[in-house]
Amino acid sequence: MNDQTDRYGAVTHEVLNQPTELADYNMFGADTALTEAVCREGAAWAVHDLTRFGALTGSAAYLELGHLANKYQPELDTHDRFGNRVDLIRFHPSYHTLMQTAIDEGIHSAHWTDPKPGAHVARAAKFFLQSQVEAGHGCPITMTSAAVPSLLLQPELAARWVPKITARSYDPRNLPSDQKTGLTIGMAMTEKQGGSDVRANTTRAVPIDTEGPGQAYELVGHKYFVSAPMCDAFLVLAQSAKGLSCFLMPRWRPDGSKNPMQIQRLKRKMGNTSNASSETELRGALAWMVGPEGRGVPTIIEMVAMTRFDCMIGSSAAMRMAVSQVLHHCSARSAFGKRLIDQPLMQNVLADLVLESEAATMLTFRIARSMDNRQDAHEDLLARLIMAVGKYWICKRTPAHAYEAMECIGGSGVMEDSPMPRLYREAPVNAIWEGSGNVQCLDVLRALQKTPEVLTAYFSEVARAAGLNADLDLHLLTLKTDLADHADLELRARDLVDRMATGIQAALLLQHAPDYVASAFCSSRLAGVGQHQYGALPRTAQVGRIIERALISE
Ligand SMILES: Cc1cc2nc3c(=O)[nH]c(=O)nc-3n(C[C@H](O)[C@H](O)[C@H](O)COP(=O)(O)OP(=O)(O)OC[C@H]3O[C@@H](n4cnc5c(N)ncnc54)[C@H](O)[C@@H]3O)c2cc1C
Repeated sequence: MNDQTDRYGAVTHEVLNQPTELADYNMFGADTALTEAVCREGAAWAVHDLTRFGALTGSAAYLELGHLANKYQPELDTHDRFGNRVDLIRFHPSYHTLMQTAIDEGIHSAHWTDPKPGAHVARAAKFFLQSQVEAGHGCPITMTSAAVPSLLLQPELAARWVPKITARSYDPRNLPSDQKTGLTIGMAMTEKQGGSDVRANTTRAVPIDTEGPGQAYELVGHKYFVSAPMCDAFLVLAQSAKGLSCFLMPRWRPDGSKNPMQIQRLKRKMGNTSNASSETELRGALAWMVGPEGRGVPTIIEMVAMTRFDCMIGSSAAMRMAVSQVLHHCSARSAFGKRLIDQPLMQNVLADLVLESEAATMLTFRIARSMDNRQDAHEDLLARLIMAVGKYWICKRTPAHAYEAMECIGGSGVMEDSPMPRLYREAPVNAIWEGSGNVQCLDVLRALQKTPEVLTAYFSEVARAAGLNADLDLHLLTLKTDLADHADLELRARDLVDRMATGIQAALLLQHAPDYVASAFCSSRLAGVGQHQYGALPRTAQVGRIIERALISE
């Protein structure tokens, strides 16, 4: 007797019309927008390596690590069983494997140790792939990478720390830095009374002996958010005699004793759960001043600028993962007699999600090229402005994108064993940390005021697409006029930055993407057709071709 002929009816049904897991595909090779961006923006030399890495990140076993690292969340042991203070974070082995791989691949350092043309682009592509597997461990990877420019402002500290920070060696042991082969770095700025406004920080820094840059201080205060508190050292903002200054605070003192930075508890977060985030007390913790005294914000901003760029990469990656999931699902699922991917209304939604994802990828990798070419005045000015514009726009577009993708999958997209809830709950985080939306918009205004040349760089960049699309031409004309009006700038900042973002995304798509992608983007994002919801592209949009371009050929 087989299943079909079970005369007692114990077999209730066959599983029909359900997709398989999206796995065992080449996450790099299957992503046309990404592969084109990598080559166009200066890292064609990395394609072979990225193809190898894309096979790993798209493999079933590797994707499973992302699921496990979030299912089994980190735990804090404040003390060992003998009563000694240890401040130890325990992670699931899957988390360590992800960290190990990211560091082996140089995602934390390849762009610093081998800064050849295209290095930032190639590293961004690896981070883009790794983030699709798991976003939470990206936090310490990003901070470790981003700490380098700030540390270089204090050369003798940099000489001691940077070689092990950039080493391709993941060493998670809770030991003093001189006993370890590789080091990770976190950051502790935020306090209860001031997150965005760090000038309100009350943590005090008292010199142990001599005052000034490079000197040892003791820090007393409380930090309300310290992510990845298992890192080996942290860049911290604290008030010294001359104002807010930046410090490097190690987990262990050089004499081998535990530095009194005590983790009070781990945050209970709605998303980003594989990443431990803590509340931490500094009880006379040793730290060395980095950069000029009283210039803490300009010193740590070097780090923050890099983390903001990684937020753009991470959110673009999340959108790509959402697109991959929905295209895979809708290709295999039928309703009302047709595959979902062949239903006109679903095609409109899918194509719209693809447009958003491709535009985000394109802008992110354009900025990666700027970062590889900071010696070029245009690229430097463009990066300064677009880092804030892109961080604001791309991160803000991601939550709605994740939700709409979830709905394309239907009820099973809401289930915890689907990747969608993780994408959805992760999505707001990039928009909130490292400068929330409004703070980014105010940063854009500050850049325009302080260095008006950034606006010249913006308009000369977008002018490369002049005459290619009437909607863009008009969009840029009115944007220029509205930017020249300096009344109520703060009140209008979001509107202006939205338009700067869509303007540059449209200009890039018109130059580098197929016509049917660029024209659908311009009519929906610039000419005001649709955009109240995803899936309202005009009837002229070639939705089938837009989808086809983003499909994964497994
Ligand atoms: C998961 C997670 C991990 C984190 N990890 C770290 C970490 O490792 N280290 C660390 O230092 N911090 C960390 N943070 C803190 C994060 O950087 C802050 O939450 C963020 O900077 C915002 O600060 P806040 O929460 O105090 O909000 P606030 O500063 O109070 O801001 C609240 C809102 O007001 C807006 N706002 C602020 N100023 C203005 C203004 N002038 N005009 C208009 N609107 C304004 C902001 O955009 C925001 O929307 C983490 C946060 C999260 C969620």
